Amino acid sequence: MGELKLFPDKLTINLYPDKKDILLKPIVPIDLELLEEFEPFIRAMANFVKNSEDAIGLAANQVWEHKDIPCPRIFVMGRIDIEDPLVCINPSVEFTGKTLKHQESCLSRPGKLYWAKRSKNCTIHYYDLEGLEHLEKYTGIYAQIIGHEMQHLYGDILKRVVKDPR
Ligand SMILES: [Zn+2]
Repeated sequence: MGELKLFPDKLTINLYPDKKDILLKPIVPIDLELLEEFEPFIRAMANFVKNSEDAIGLAANQVWEHKDIPCPRIFVMGRIDIEDPLVCINPSVEFTGKTLKHQESCLSRPGKLYWAKRSKNCTIHYYDLEGLEHLEKYTGIYAQIIGHEMQHLYGDILKRVVKDPR
């Protein structure tokens, strides 16, 4: 990818329905050899969540701009009491336990609320920015956020849910 400026300094949220047709497509894993090339983009995603008042999670296809370069399979999750968001590269997740219904909103559909069924627990396998492998368990709000972001990466979330519970 060389000297091309691949990523803008400021990320823009793709809104549903998006003209680029990125939000509703499943996102394939990134070749970890290319991680370094994507690093500025991944850091921009992490900073977006860190500096945002209402973003607790962000999936790469919500801010991806290129039609000709496949969107990397990445999401970022904000954390309570930890300044830096969790960066999950090539995540795969197993959800377990009871499912609960939650009212959620999404940056790609501002102003809408909808119901989503989320598992109480999950085990996530992912790589971090250094390319190191992780296997971790999350519960509660974190399992909920991971469920939401994974649905983004499956290209699934925005066509399925949009029943306003109010
Ligand atoms: Zn969302």
